[in-house]
Amino acid sequence: MVYIIGAGPGDPGLITIAGVERLKRCDVVVYDYLVSPEILRFARRDARMVYVGKRGGHHTVSQEELNSLLVKEAKEGHTVARLKGGDPFIFGRGGEEAEVLEREGIPFEVVPGVTSAIAVPAYAGIPLTHREHTSVVAFVTGHEDPEKEKSAIDWEALAKIESLVFLMGVKNLAGITVSLIEKGKPPSTPVALVRRGTTPDQETLSGTLGDIAGKAEKANFTPPAILVVGEVVRLRERLNWYEKKSLFGKGIVITRPEEQSEELAELLRREGARVISFPTVRIVPPESFDALDWALAKIQTYDWIIFTSANGVRFFFERMAALGGGHQGSEGRENLHHRPRDAARRRDALHQG
Ligand code: SAH
Repeated sequence: MVYIIGAGPGDPGLITIAGVERLKRCDVVVYDYLVSPEILRFARRDARMVYVGKRGGHHTVSQEELNSLLVKEAKEGHTVARLKGGDPFIFGRGGEEAEVLEREGIPFEVVPGVTSAIAVPAYAGIPLTHREHTSVVAFVTGHEDPEKEKSAIDWEALAKIESLVFLMGVKNLAGITVSLIEKGKPPSTPVALVRRGTTPDQETLSGTLGDIAGKAEKANFTPPAILVVGEVVRLRERLNWYEKKSLFGKGIVITRPEEQSEELAELLRREGARVISFPTVRIVPPESFDALDWALAKIQTYDWIIFTSANGVRFFFERMAALGGGHQGSEGRENLHHRPRDAARRRDALHQG
């Protein structure tokens, strides 16, 4: 079985529940460079990760090799996740891969993803449709050089459409904007170029159809980016919510132990921070439990137990369980867990702590 799964545009929260659920079942994960590393963590720990990314058109693995790989893995009996950035069927060659699987008689399912074509404008504060400005939107590949002899793109028709979204258009920016202007789109039409959208690295360059190519060159603007063309871009002035978050664009290193960093990381991410997990602390049992054992032996003589960290609580109770409960003075060793009075005490201790 091959699941062709859309990983969403970058923000790991934008993969679907169905996508995560399929990913968890797979023993091989074949993924592209646009797939956020944080999403790979949803896969099983023992799953084999195969990177087949491409960057700026340079394929690490050719499409033919990739197709054969999917077929081979599936025929060997593996459950394969084919994870693709955004939505697999929007400029993602997911259609070609599904055709190959169909031809080979391999069962497959497609889990749609949130395409960058809509999510990136949304994170830049640009609604692609708006009753006052737009009733038609087009998604266009900017990969094709408009200068080439016979363009598959009808530029005349495109120039009439109110909202345009170009993917893979950074390299041909000059060609795209000139073609639209030649076919009648006013050079003053507002445009926005958004790179690495929906991630803390999001960068937006605003301008007009007439000046964006020059601006992008000056700023050395690199892919992956989306170009949005149309009056709706003006709404960004008021609706730019993501780039205004309090920690947006800031890189924050968390030094907590890996297994305890997630909660804080999530809070920081929610405020737009780029979180780098760099654990400098590892929590291990103490060299000797003697001091704790001594205290546990006369636990009923204490009125208060103060815990100074979650780790302290964990090791305390783990040790108590390992000893089979606490010492009960002359009554000898009994299982604390079966004594309601002590259970209540333990609960109190926890609350107080
Ligand atoms: N299937 C993908 C698109 C693959 S084509 C999808 O549905 O999103 C690759 C192009 O997508 C890039 O060149 C860029 O134009 C766009 N893209 C993907 N992720 C992006 C992101 N986070 N920010 C800006 N553009 C992105």
